[in-house]
Amino acid sequence: MTAQLAVSNLTMTFGGLVALNAIDLEVRTGELIGLIGPNGSGKTTLLNIVGGYYSATAGKVAFEGRRIDGKTPTALARMGIGRSFQVTKVFKRLTVLENLLVPGVTDWSVSTAKASERAQGILADLNLKRLADERASTLSGGQAKLLEFGRIMMLSPKLVLLDEPFGGVHPELKSFMYDHIKDWNAGGVTVILISHDMGSIFDLCHRVVTLSYGSIIADGSPNEVRKDPAVLEAYLGDHHVA
Ligand code: ADP
Ligand code: MG
Repeated sequence: MTAQLAVSNLTMTFGGLVALNAIDLEVRTGELIGLIGPNGSGKTTLLNIVGGYYSATAGKVAFEGRRIDGKTPTALARMGIGRSFQVTKVFKRLTVLENLLVPGVTDWSVSTAKASERAQGILADLNLKRLADERASTLSGGQAKLLEFGRIMMLSPKLVLLDEPFGGVHPELKSFMYDHIKDWNAGGVTVILISHDMGSIFDLCHRVVTLSYGSIIADGSPNEVRKDPAVLEAYLGDHHVA
């Protein structure tokens, strides 16, 4: 089977720091992958490159057989790649509802009324409906995470990139997100999930990729990765316990 997402020889340096060191990663359509690793291991950088926010120092990224490195996040969203951020990037001066309509109206050929109806439904699911007309700057950290999740729901994505999506989210809504991630996956959507919450990684993911100092040190089933000495050492070295 050919890969939906193929990252090859991907390298990213910031000054003298090698954040990603010649990464190769192939992801098939419909996989639900956990991306783990100690702080600073390059997880966010990898999603930033795949999502079009950084351009890599070297290497390439292909999606459905087409090179996508160098494309803008908006162009990638139109191709069906949605992402959420570790540090949320909602449009603070727009209302909560308007935040969902930005990608909805610009990326779709549907009417504003239809997009608005869809957005209202998503806000209801995320328990944000009563805040629809408030500025997004009034949201808590967890609510902003939910709003970013809602933006991906608006897209009908093919590939979802989630960077610490559960931080500060109310447990009930975290469970909604879980179910939605599972639904996406059941419908053939590919998901790459970064989370410090190992419980969610091991509950949700079929495959776990571990980064350490910009290199992939393990790639396998949750059970394989959990027992992998290199993974344990990477975390213990960082004063974390896997
Ligand atoms: P993770 O998400 O795994 O915690 P990151 O991808 O955020 O790691 O960071 C990997 C490394 O790259 C870290 O050493 C970090 O300080 C560095 N880094 C990330 N983004 C930038 C940037 N925009 N400028 C300089 N250094 C960066
Ligand atoms: Mg990060």
